[in-house]
Amino acid sequence: MSVDWFLKLKEIDSLTKMRINYLKSKSEQEDRVSKLNERRQETLMQTAKLKQDGFALNHELAELEKKLKTASEQKQRLMDMGGDEKKIHQYQLDIDQAEEQGLEFLTQLEEIETQSQDHKTFLAGLEKTIKEIEVDVLPEVTKLNNEVINIDLRLKLLLEELPSDFRSTLQKISAKNLAHGPFTRIDQGSCYFCRYKISRLDESEIDMQKNLKTCPQCSRIFLPYGA
Ligand SMILES: [Zn+2]
Repeated sequence: MSVDWFLKLKEIDSLTKMRINYLKSKSEQEDRVSKLNERRQETLMQTAKLKQDGFALNHELAELEKKLKTASEQKQRLMDMGGDEKKIHQYQLDIDQAEEQGLEFLTQLEEIETQSQDHKTFLAGLEKTIKEIEVDVLPEVTKLNNEVINIDLRLKLLLEELPSDFRSTLQKISAKNLAHGPFTRIDQGSCYFCRYKISRLDESEIDMQKNLKTCPQCSRIFLPYGA
């Protein structure tokens, strides 16, 4: 009977490892989409920033045009009155400067427009790619989820069937995440993994009486002969 329990221990251990692998594959699949979604989010934020910059520039441009209009009117009035040449010249300098600034703003606006178009094109491509990848990823994730659900059901059953000392020992040793797993065997009177010497009495209890024992040195569970 208790050889069966050791077989159940082994099955629980291998199911637990499979479960970890399924979850890892699942998150790898999900990452494929979420990385692209992050890119999409970033681009949307950049686009919003460009739009804001465009608004601000348009506002400045409108203010500049008002200034330009006022300066032109004042210059004209002064000229009509036959006013001070130096002042007229200063107005002309202000006008030239404002026009130059206006051209600069227009160039920046064009640049923003080009970048916005680039973002739009990039986003359209990205969304197409996301949809294509989702066609692969979604069924795969569903499949992996179902595998995990099935494993969980099987694990629950197995754990319920185990005597409590088997259950708690497996849980305790598994939690240590030992290299090569939680099991060992007796190999020529010693623990197969750490070579700890096992007494004749212990050896007989493990292999003949199929008792549950762990290695005093590496703490792995001894699988009896035949399990
Ligand atoms: Zn050992």
